[in-house]
Amino acid sequence: METDFILEILYRTCIMFLVILLVLRLSGRRGVRQLTLFEVAIILGMGSAAGDPMFQDDVPILHGVTVLFTIVILYKIITWISSKWTFLHEMLEGKSMVIVCEGQFDMKHEKDGDFSQMEFFAELRNQSVEHLGQVRYALLEPDATLSILYYADEDVKYGMPLFPNRYQEIKSLPQDQPCACMYCGHVLQELSAIHATCPRCKHQKWTLAMCTKRIS
Ligand SMILES: [Zn+2]
Repeated sequence: METDFILEILYRTCIMFLVILLVLRLSGRRGVRQLTLFEVAIILGMGSAAGDPMFQDDVPILHGVTVLFTIVILYKIITWISSKWTFLHEMLEGKSMVIVCEGQFDMKHEKDGDFSQMEFFAELRNQSVEHLGQVRYALLEPDATLSILYYADEDVKYGMPLFPNRYQEIKSLPQDQPCACMYCGHVLQELSAIHATCPRCKHQKWTLAMCTKRIS
């Protein structure tokens, strides 16, 4: 009896696995390098419909298959509508967000709880960005990838360091060395006091700015 059902699980799993592959191919996605929240929701919805019929003998395979095809058809319809209607698209997928503009952090997200500066430090470091003065423009895409436009080597300016060995608060007033606000990346050629107030974001912590060129 038990062996019979194990054999049934084997064949149910094979069928459902092939159906999942087919349905994912039909969805038209090329891969899952990065998923938007909308797509994660779809995949969660598919998970149980695909998994349950594999080992529950009271769930007919046909039911699971019907759910999967319904979800993929809904996905296609909603994607098609949202391609015509920007508002719906942004609601489902989120929109891209300016993170860095001309070597400084964009301040629009300052009070945004979802915005974690530390995360973007890490992302920028991953792209071998040593300091913000190398970055002309950085966008956070809805799929959580960063798109970065760099300054040409001759245009790199002083900027806030992103690696911890250099991102350190100054202990004394530096001579002839530009400083960067540790919060927004604003650079001052000369600091009037160690805890001078940043004219841009009103924070009072400064670090030595760097202007090394990009190593590619
Ligand atoms: Zn600042």
